[in-house]
Amino acid sequence: MDNGLQQDKIYVTRSLMPSYEEYIEEIKPLWDSHWLTNMGAYHQQLETKLAEFLDVQNVSLTANGHMALELTLQALDLPEGGEVITTPYTFISTTHAIIRNGLQPVFCDIKDNYTIDETKIENLITEKTVAIVPVHVYGNICNINAISEIASKHELKVVYDAAHAFGERFHGQPVAGFGDASVFSFHATKVFHTIEGGAVCSNDHTIYDKMYNLKNFGIRSEDTVVAVGANAKMNEFQAIMGLCNLRHIEDAITHRKQLYEQYISILKDTQWLTLNSPDKDIAYNYGYFPVLFKDAKQRDFIYEELQKQDIYTRKYFYPLTCDALCFEEKFNACDLTRARDFSQRVLVLPLYPDLTPEQVERIAKSLIEAGGKCI
Ligand SMILES: *Cc1c(COP(=O)(O)O)cnc(C)c1O
Repeated sequence: MDNGLQQDKIYVTRSLMPSYEEYIEEIKPLWDSHWLTNMGAYHQQLETKLAEFLDVQNVSLTANGHMALELTLQALDLPEGGEVITTPYTFISTTHAIIRNGLQPVFCDIKDNYTIDETKIENLITEKTVAIVPVHVYGNICNINAISEIASKHELKVVYDAAHAFGERFHGQPVAGFGDASVFSFHATKVFHTIEGGAVCSNDHTIYDKMYNLKNFGIRSEDTVVAVGANAKMNEFQAIMGLCNLRHIEDAITHRKQLYEQYISILKDTQWLTLNSPDKDIAYNYGYFPVLFKDAKQRDFIYEELQKQDIYTRKYFYPLTCDALCFEEKFNACDLTRARDFSQRVLVLPLYPDLTPEQVERIAKSLIEAGGKCI
């Protein structure tokens, strides 16, 4: 069977995997214990190891990142109908988590680094505002100090969607400790993953405690149900994938960094292209390589041209979450000039640890060539 062509396809990401032998060896004990889920030994072990690695007091593991976000908002007991200031420049999960809690998203525009524009937050605060849900987009960190000041002044909760910021530090401080809670996704496409999975991180033990109830039906012992919880537990196969991947995460990030720098060296002088430049004070995880084109026409043209060469980039994030079909035209009135502009001009290029330098060169050169046909 000739699948040579198939192998040449380059997707925007490719899941990190431990060796087959490493994973198989680690899951073998499950055939003795038959303990496959319900906060088993591996679930507990991964919570402890991640708390150490992320430098935060509590890590509560969940079945996926979305449930981590949705249940964290629930854990904060925010009043029904309350307004939550957030960004539309994110994955749809952020917005859905707010709405599925009976809360109202209020969309704020973004800055040059794609994160929420903290200078526009206060204008959006009303009597009904209860929380802020910012996102560390592409691993660029939000202005945590300004957001924290606004939150204390107006007595608002802050939950960071940190799905893109695994393992990062900002001015030496671990990202997992920001806000009332910081939430990670460990989906297969993320820098660190557990196949599907997520975590709620906090230095406040009450959040860990409430999350335990919310992810396990509120069951605290065989005959005691203390809360109306859902089911969002991480199972043992997921936790073991996490324990294996955690052994290799530093190598994976180092490899990402090399490829990232190679992209920059090839693309930096291309006049019609804007590259992301993460703040120097971030210990960055090199999760994504977003580029901005001149306009939507050029972006869409290059996207198509690269696909013809089996290079699959992503329009990420496009459309804005507030423009999703399911919301019809409900959020049309928001002033989101920059978010709308960026979402029409952005592409995320392939970046994953086992991408080769030859492939990076092929992608970058094809992009320059295609762009040259549409300036
Ligand atoms: C991946 C992601 C999520 C959702 O995580 P899942 O694990 O896929 O449920 C939420 N927010 C952002 C910004 C993400 O990238």
